[in-house]
Amino acid sequence: MKHYIIPVFIPHLGCLHECIFCNQRKITGLLTPVTARQVAAVIQERLADINQARRIEVAFYGGSFTALPQAMQNELLAPASQALYNGQIHAIRLSTRPDCITGSTLANLRSHGVSIVELGVQSFDDAVLFNAARGHSSQIVAEAVNLLKAAGISCGLQLMPGLPGEDWMSLITTVRQTVTLCPDFVRIYPAIVIAGTRLAELYQQGVYQPLSLPQAVARCAYMKLVFERQGIEVIRTGLQASEELDKNVLAGPYHPAFGELVDSHIFYLMLTRFIEQNFFDTETGFTIVHHPKDTSKVRGQHNNNLSRLRLQYNLSAITLCADSTVIPGSLLLRHKGLSFLLSKKAKI
Ligand code: SF4
Repeated sequence: MKHYIIPVFIPHLGCLHECIFCNQRKITGLLTPVTARQVAAVIQERLADINQARRIEVAFYGGSFTALPQAMQNELLAPASQALYNGQIHAIRLSTRPDCITGSTLANLRSHGVSIVELGVQSFDDAVLFNAARGHSSQIVAEAVNLLKAAGISCGLQLMPGLPGEDWMSLITTVRQTVTLCPDFVRIYPAIVIAGTRLAELYQQGVYQPLSLPQAVARCAYMKLVFERQGIEVIRTGLQASEELDKNVLAGPYHPAFGELVDSHIFYLMLTRFIEQNFFDTETGFTIVHHPKDTSKVRGQHNNNLSRLRLQYNLSAITLCADSTVIPGSLLLRHKGLSFLLSKKAKI
């Protein structure tokens, strides 16, 4: 069943620090804190719009939920809990900081029906966390994840490649630590420069240079490949495009189809590695058999994957063939009467 998220934005509520990359007011367009009455209204309005079977979740985003006083947490959660107990929604999720997780906080969340918590982690490199003014170390993340697991709450990590001071080695550390902690899922948002943030000042002073779009795509593709190979679901890559963001992004790898670019790059990596590791008669060319929903990703934007492959390997012909029996994300390569299965799980 498809998911339907009812988002409730609590811009900066509970935030203990002003992280240099963050301006939730610019991201969400909301300037005033949300009230319990508004939460109830949003839930009922959205529920009235749903006319198909969906797994419905209420999600509190944009602040540090568990850093709020418990009375306020309970007040905001009450309408969502009510909808959960009435059978109108299936789950409640929220995002928060890893240094605001305790056993008693989690017990309270559970008593209100919260079953999914996303931690804003960004990086496991302490120097990067310091530069980003996160106000906590990577050690605290491990403790928070363990507490969430012990409480039986599904745990997601939000990671942000491209922050000041990060390089490939630093990113690899972040990926390794994430794999070690084995969260239930991750979200990957490359750092972008949003108006009204400290990062914007650093960018304007020439001190910070965001990742280019191809750099960000390459880093996110690497992360997604490793996580998926380790059985960690990647539920999103790139921020959801919105009018507010369109107005407020000053620089960086912001693209409305960022996730598709990442998936497309993964197909490109799978194909290049395979071609390089196997004998290929470039005169004959080959056929790429893929699941129909992957056609545009295999092609790449503006057929970019196909033209790069043709140019790079002097291939005379590449034919695409959609076949719904192929597993999405995998490819079947046909060449001179032979078939080769390319899977993300295979080492590339
Ligand atoms: S990243 Fe999270 S903790 Fe930091 S300012 Fe934004 S909402 Fe608050």
